[in-house]
Amino acid sequence: MLVVMKAQASPEQIQAVCEHIEQLGFRAHPLPGAQRTAIGITGNKGEVDRGNLEALSGVAEVIRVSKPYKLASRDVKEEDTVIRFPGTDATIGDQSLAVIAGPCSIESREQAFAIAEQVAAAGAQFFRGGAYKPRTSPYAFQGLGLEALRIMAEVRDRFGLRIVTEAIDSPSLDLVAEWADVIQIGARNMQNFSLLKHAGKVRKPVLLKRGLSATLDEFLMAAEYVMSEGNYEVILCERGVRTFADHTRNTLDLSIVPAVQRLSHLPILVDPSHGTGKRDSVLPMARAAVASGADGVLIEVHNQPEKALSDGPQSIYPDQFARMMDELEQIAPVVGRKLERGIHVTAATS
Ligand code: PEP
Ligand code: MN
Repeated sequence: MLVVMKAQASPEQIQAVCEHIEQLGFRAHPLPGAQRTAIGITGNKGEVDRGNLEALSGVAEVIRVSKPYKLASRDVKEEDTVIRFPGTDATIGDQSLAVIAGPCSIESREQAFAIAEQVAAAGAQFFRGGAYKPRTSPYAFQGLGLEALRIMAEVRDRFGLRIVTEAIDSPSLDLVAEWADVIQIGARNMQNFSLLKHAGKVRKPVLLKRGLSATLDEFLMAAEYVMSEGNYEVILCERGVRTFADHTRNTLDLSIVPAVQRLSHLPILVDPSHGTGKRDSVLPMARAAVASGADGVLIEVHNQPEKALSDGPQSIYPDQFARMMDELEQIAPVVGRKLERGIHVTAATS
């Protein structure tokens, strides 16, 4: 169910409706829009009695939401969700393209700084790097953990870049929420429902990667898990799915971009690095991602990919990254977007 408030409803009226919903034993999710606030109701097994709700002051109408995902749905919130980063001009989900770049794994302070310097110079606003790595083999490099989080915090201090890194379980999620700006939930954990609920309880944006074989509905339901706990800042990320095709590591499914945008107000990024697994394919598919209308891209960049401890074959060189930025800058206006280069930090934040 969804309670649509009148355009002129006061904060007190919105608050009173939320309290009424909570008293009924449900959860209220106020979602402010440009014109009016909508209040999503979750936790109800069946129909909520709409009569009482419609009678409350400030209420315009009460609507049934038929989709299994509610808070993630455009039925509940028409306007695109825009995620902002306090103290900076960085955004995800508005007209400007978001570019997240960095190595698959943080391997050392020197490596992280060398790459960060070059992606910042080319105009990225977000730096990525794995601290906790979900590796197929237990014998492969598992990440530097807290040491890597500390290195990335230093990168933020030095270059202003906002930090995106993956949490693989509850303990790492608490640490990532403390040290980073965006919590990544990886493809392998897209249906780790307890981890999704935990991410819903923190107040940092969540970058949710599509599962290896997840349908659109499953993807949006995973976002719903995070939102149902009160964290509405979810960024979706297409990173390729498993198919019979073996010329790439995964099959990058760009057709999910317009499909997500039709059904959901959440931003959607594209990761052509994991989506193809091949360095030579990253630039063409990054261009295609922007042309498809994605809100931005996530790109693995390494200064010495041949020595990388993970995902070297798909990591592009810094000079390729700079070229990609030039290309995306030219494609962006064709689809009504802009590539803002660099991040401006207006206040000290961490
Ligand atoms: C990553 O971003 O390095 C990663 C492990 O991604 P995915 O979960 O999409 O495989
Ligand atoms: Mn990787």
